[in-house]
Amino acid sequence: MIQNTIIIGSGAGGATIARELSLKKHKIKLLDKGPLYQQGSAAEYLKLKKVSSIDKSGLPTGKEINNLNLNEDNRFSLQLMYSEGLGGTTTISLANACYACSSCYTDSTTTQFQLQNLELYNEFLEASKEMKVNPLPFDFRGPTTQKMVEAAENLDFYMEAMPKFIDFDLCNKCGNCLYNCKPGAKWDARDYVAQAQKKGAELITDFQVKRILNCQGKVTGVEGIYKGEKKVLNSSQVVLSAGALNTPFILRNSGITEGVGEEFFCDLFITVGAYLKDAQLNQEIPMGVKSEFGPYFISPHYSAALPPLIQEKYKNLKKDIKVTPDDVVGIMIKIADESRGFMDKNGDIHKDITSRDRKLFQEGIKKATDLLIEMSADPESVVLSPVRGAHPGGTAPMGKVVNQDMQTSLEGLYVVDASIIPRAPGRPPILTIVALAKKLAQIMG
Ligand SMILES: Cc1cc2nc3c(=O)[nH]c(=O)nc-3n(C[C@H](O)[C@H](O)[C@H](O)COP(=O)(O)OP(=O)(O)OC[C@H]3O[C@@H](n4cnc5c(N)ncnc54)[C@H](O)[C@@H]3O)c2cc1C
Repeated sequence: MIQNTIIIGSGAGGATIARELSLKKHKIKLLDKGPLYQQGSAAEYLKLKKVSSIDKSGLPTGKEINNLNLNEDNRFSLQLMYSEGLGGTTTISLANACYACSSCYTDSTTTQFQLQNLELYNEFLEASKEMKVNPLPFDFRGPTTQKMVEAAENLDFYMEAMPKFIDFDLCNKCGNCLYNCKPGAKWDARDYVAQAQKKGAELITDFQVKRILNCQGKVTGVEGIYKGEKKVLNSSQVVLSAGALNTPFILRNSGITEGVGEEFFCDLFITVGAYLKDAQLNQEIPMGVKSEFGPYFISPHYSAALPPLIQEKYKNLKKDIKVTPDDVVGIMIKIADESRGFMDKNGDIHKDITSRDRKLFQEGIKKATDLLIEMSADPESVVLSPVRGAHPGGTAPMGKVVNQDMQTSLEGLYVVDASIIPRAPGRPPILTIVALAKKLAQIMG
C-alpha cells in the first residue's frame, strides 16, 4: 500500500528521510518554510540568533574565559548561527564529516545512541559513501595549515586530516566552502532533495508549518501558512525535521510540551587569532586538519571577526601595523558544552557558559595560543573571537521527547533532526543526523 508522508524541513534530517522514503515508494510532500534559492547565495540566508544568559551576571568576559588576559573586559555575547531555506543549514556548512568515534570522545553521538539501543554503524558507512566522505587529501592542504601541523608536532600533539564531504575530483581549492562552492564539490542536502524529487516527491517551499493536527492521540495532518494563507494538509504520518530551533516550537504548538526545549546545547566555539604576515589562511580550505582532545577539538579557522580585533589591539599597543585578512591565522576551539540551556515560550534561547565549559575553553585556548606562537605569529597580537554556537541541538532529546523509533507521544509523528541528539557531541553533527534519518526510514518501512 502506498503511504502518504509529510516531511517538514529540507535540511540534513528532512532531505535524507525524503530521499529514503521516496526510494521506498512513499508518496512524499516535503515542506520548507524557506525559499528555493540560487547556488551561491547561501550567505544571504545565514541567520544569527542572540542568546541571553540565565545567570543575571551575564556571559563571561574574555578574561574570565581564558585567564590569559588576552582581551578587553567586555562581556561576551553569544550568538547561534543557522540557515533557513532549501537544504537548511547544510548549505552553509564547512563540509566537516565526523564519524562520531567513541575513541575521540567517549560521549560521542555513536555512544549516546547506542545507549538508546540504536546502532548507527551501517548508516554512517552508507551516508559516507553517498556523500563522498574522505579525509582532506594532502595536496588540498594549504601551506599555512601544513605549517600548523608541523608546529603542533613540535609541541607534541598530532593534527590529522579532517574528513570532508567534498568531491575532490570537482574541488578547485578556492576555500569558499562556507558560502559558495562554485564547482558544486561540497555535498549539501539539496542533493538528496533532488534525488527525492526524481523519485516523485513533491517539494513545497515557502510553507511555514505552525502545528501538527491530531485527533485521539494520532496525527491527522499539518497546519501552516502558504503564500500568506492558512493551509491544511492531511496525512497520518508526519516527520518533523525543522531543526533544533524550530522543531520545539512546532511540538509545543501541537500540545507536546514535556521535556521540549529544556536541554539545549550548541557545541560552543571560539577562535583564537593572531597576526602572521601573508599567512593567507583565509584562502585555504577551512578546517582542513584537526586535533582531538576528548570533549573538544581544535582546527585551523579564519574568522572575519579577527582582523579588526587584532587591529584594535595594535592600536592600543601603539603598534603601527596594518592588519589585512591575508595576515591573520586562527584556530577554532569547539567544545561539547553542557546541555543546560532552554528555549522559552517565545522561542528565545537562554544559556550560560558553565564552569566546565570555561575549563575546556581555557585548555583549548592555551594549546591554540602556544601553537600560534610556535608558528611565529606575533604573541602580542593574540585575540579571541566572540563565542558562537553553530550546532544547536537537544531540544527534543531521544529518551525524553521521542522514543528509540524517533516517534513522539503522538502516533504517526516522528522527529529526525539535531533536536533529538541528547547531549552535545562537540563535533560536526550532519553525518549523525543523516545516519539517524536513514535509520528512521527503515523503522517507518
Ligand atoms: C556556519 C556553519 C557551519 C557548519 N558546518 C558544519 C560542518 O562542516 N559539518 C557538520 O556536520 N555540521 C556543520 N554545521 C551544522 C549543521 O549544518 C547543522 O547541525 C545541521 O544542518 C542541522 O540539521 P537539521 O536537519 O537539524 O536542521 P537544518 O539543516 O537547519 O534544516 C532545518 C530545515 O527546516 C526548515 N524549517 C524550519 N522551520 C520550519 C517550519 N516551521 N516549516 C517548514 N520548514 C521549516 C528550515 O528552512 C530548514 O530547511 C554548520 C553550521 C553552521 C551554522
